[in-house]
This record gives sequence, structure tokens and C-alpha cells, in this order.
Amino acid sequence: MALIVQKFGGTSVKDRTRIFNVARIVMDTRNAGNDVVVVVSAQGDTTDDLIAKAGEISINPSQREMDMLLATGEQISISLLAMALQELGVPAISLTGWQAGFVTDRAYTKARIKRLDTERVESELARNRVVVVAGFQGLNRSEDVTTLGRGGSDTSAVALAAALHADRCQIFTDVEGVFTADPRKIRKARKLKEITFDEMLELATSGAQVLNNRSVELAKKYNVELEVISSINPVPGTVVKEEADMEGMLIKGVAKDTNVAVISILGVPDVPGMSFKVFSLLGQRNINVDIILQSSGQDGHKDLIFTVPRDDGDNAVSILNTNSARFGGGKIILRKNIAKVSIVGAGMQSHAGVAATMFEALAAQNINIHMISTSEIKISVIIDEKQADRAVEAIHDAFIH
Ligand code: ASP
Ligand code: MG
Repeated sequence: MALIVQKFGGTSVKDRTRIFNVARIVMDTRNAGNDVVVVVSAQGDTTDDLIAKAGEISINPSQREMDMLLATGEQISISLLAMALQELGVPAISLTGWQAGFVTDRAYTKARIKRLDTERVESELARNRVVVVAGFQGLNRSEDVTTLGRGGSDTSAVALAAALHADRCQIFTDVEGVFTADPRKIRKARKLKEITFDEMLELATSGAQVLNNRSVELAKKYNVELEVISSINPVPGTVVKEEADMEGMLIKGVAKDTNVAVISILGVPDVPGMSFKVFSLLGQRNINVDIILQSSGQDGHKDLIFTVPRDDGDNAVSILNTNSARFGGGKIILRKNIAKVSIVGAGMQSHAGVAATMFEALAAQNINIHMISTSEIKISVIIDEKQADRAVEAIHDAFIH
């Protein structure tokens, strides 16, 4: 008998029909002779609606109270799904994140899982029940409710699969798997049979929104093979694992990220320690810097240009302005109307000319590149936001036939 963890996202449980659809998938899995642990997200737009409700009360609500509020969304789904399973004659019990043993650190709204005590889940499985667990939530050491950050239910599912040594971890969603580009926008986008953890991680951090990136990190760390499949359309999905078949593809995907802003600090003194002063200020505020460029110095000064998440742009600039005397007092410029377009694929490690093909596709569209960054399996460019969709299409055409 195998143990299978099945995770269902918000759209998959958005209403009565979808909940019964999920209950039937779970029932079929159980009837095939498996133990099943189910992880669910909040129904439809519930989490967004709860955030909006908080906004009606306070523009800067306490993070602790936010988590208390947001965790309610998942509790609705688990109880309704357990009821639906019981209606179908399947013994089932719902558990909150804390009942299922999720212990997190203190970081409200973006907590990390510290420990997972699986005794309760295991004893319910031993009683022959399907266990329905609330994703996205846990309890910190002071026994306060925490949440794992947006999209955190994927992480809950992977953590459970790892801790329970599950035989499979299936992530059910409203798309049929991982595609070479957003299939709603790129007509020729292809579904991948397999992708590696590293490729998936690069795609997830480059704007592809299939899996939450922390969940992929965790899956890689504990080597939990993931299967991304549709809850609506029963066709084979995409398997995410350590080593994947290349399917003869140089690149596995093209992604667009518009949550990017460029900050330029002009006239930074060309002496040791300046980058440290700038980036430690941002690091202390938890602002992630992605691509960094530095101009070659002139007259003892240089320019420092880098990207941050667009949501953090104003915050970053105000921190930098307040402290600008420490790094030359030069002008600080924020640009938000830009986008990052990336290609990802382990195949580029052993092939020359991948970057040239990407840049040629952009040149043919007359698209100007502002910044470039590369890793072993990824190349990203910063371009104007209004050209980004055209860029994705042109690059996709150049690589994927
Ligand atoms: N309900 C939470 C969110 O919308 C967690 C999740 O969906 O995974 O972010
Ligand atoms: Mg959700």
C-alpha cells in the first residue's frame, strides 16, 4: 500500500462542484489501495478577499492578526472537503496546520517550517481515514498562528510528503502541468513531461507561477518527486525531479516577471566598501536584490544599477535617500515600467550560442536590452515592460519548435 500526498489549490476547491470533484479524485486514489493525505488551499479568491477586509480596518494591520485572519481561509476548505468525502462514504478527518504538527519560526506572514510532528496524521491514517490538512499555516513557539507566505500550501504538501516518506506528491492545479511559456499567452507553448528541480526553481523565481519556489527548494532538499497535474482534466502532467529527460530541448521555458524595478545610484565614490554600504541597508530591510550592474568608474565615481521587487521599490529608494550621504549623496533613480524575461534550461550548460540566439530574437524585434544576467542554467534580460510579451513570443519561437 502506497502513501500519496495530494495538494489542491484554491481554484480546485472554489465551489461545491469543484469540492466534490476533488473528493472523487481522492476517493479513487484511496479505492486503488492507497493511503491519502490531502492538503488544500483556501477556496478561490478567499485569501485576497481576507486581505482586502483587513485593509478596510487598517492600512498597516498587525502581522500577527493578519495570520490569524488568513489562516481561516484554509479551515473552510478542509472542513468542507472532509464533509464531501464523508458524503461519498469515505472516512475522512480535517486537521488544521497545528493539529497536523506544523511548527514554524516567528516570522508572521512569511513563516518557515521548523519542525513537523506527524504523530496525529499517522494515527489518523492508521485508523483508515483520509487526512485533510490545511495548507499554508502553522503555529510558532509561542503557540501563535503563522502563515507561510502566498502560495504556501505547496510547501505544506511537500513538507508532509517528506516527513511521512510518501511514495508520491501530487500537486493538482488549474493548469495541466508546467509549460514552456504561459499557455494563455503563447499559443505554441508546450507541456513538459519532466523538468529538473533546478530548472523549476529558476522558472519559479523568474515569474512562472505554477509552483511556489520555496516548495521546490524543499522538494529538492528532501528529494520529493512532484507531479503537477490538472484537477479538471485527467491527462498526464509534468514530473519535477532531480534528473530529467532533456527531450532534446536546449531550454525548458521562457518566463516573464513584471514584479521588477530598477534602481540607479549615480556618482558613487569608486572606493572599497561602497557596495557593502548600499546592499547591507537593503538586506537589513529584507529587500532582495537580483541583478546588479556597476559602471566602470570615471573621475573617481561610478554608477550602481540593480533590480529589486517592484513592491519594494519605493521603500528601497526612501531608505537609500535617507542614508545617501554614506555613499556619495548622488542622485537615486527608480524605474518601474520594466520587466525581466528569462530563459531556463540545463541544456545551455553544454551548448554554445544560447545567449546569442536569445539576443538575436530580441534584436529582430528591435527590443533594447537594459541589463543582462546569467547563471549556469538561466539567462535573464531587463527590457521595457510594454515589449515584454512580444519578447517572450519571439524568444519562444527561436528555441521551441
Ligand atoms: N491561500 C494561500 C494563498 O492564496 C495559500 C495558497 O494558496 O497556497 O496564498
Ligand atoms: Mg490561494
